[in-house]
Amino acid sequence: MELLKKRILQDGKCFEGGILKVDSFINHQMDPILMKSIGVEFSRRFGGTNVNKIMTIEASGIAPAIMTGYLLDLPVVFAKKKSPKTIQNVLSTTVHSFTKDRKYDVVISADFLTPDDNVVFIDDFLAFGNAAIGVIDLVKKSGANLIGMGFVIEKEFQNGRKRIEEQGVRVESLAIIEDLSNCKIKIK
Ligand code: 5GP
Repeated sequence: MELLKKRILQDGKCFEGGILKVDSFINHQMDPILMKSIGVEFSRRFGGTNVNKIMTIEASGIAPAIMTGYLLDLPVVFAKKKSPKTIQNVLSTTVHSFTKDRKYDVVISADFLTPDDNVVFIDDFLAFGNAAIGVIDLVKKSGANLIGMGFVIEKEFQNGRKRIEEQGVRVESLAIIEDLSNCKIKIK
């Protein structure tokens, strides 16, 4: 997606340890026009499938997921990183966080992810694939069908795609970062 790649090169910042900061337009301050284009592109890639629900994980996946759900006229559900006291029929899994270097539990209610659902998962980043592997586990536990996973930005050099594809899941990324070494952003 050319618009996104241009924006990453223009406004993205590279940090030690292979971290790309895009908080001026994606995951802190957000550009709704760009976010709409992201939704249009995910809709184009997944719209021809039998998807009937968009799933994401809080917090940064919510903006691209809601745009995609809006454009495809589908409900959007997000997995939570803290289990609310009021949640019912909870499904849970454990994920190792790349940016925070710790483990956390992710939960979703089986009321909103069911065997009737054909799900597309959307998130901001694919790095090592830990969050995605946790989501695959949640979807399996719910009995839903996972059609594919869409990422706004994939850091190819951290090999998350391989782990997801090994599980037989389709991966779509809108911008693929080949390398961040020496704090230079190299986009495919
Ligand atoms: P993974 O589980 O694939 O290793 O990492 C996915 C999650 O970590 C994403 O949802 C995102 O929140 C966070 N993340 C991974 N790499 C980066 C990065 O380079 N920059 C930012 N801002 N977040 C990242």
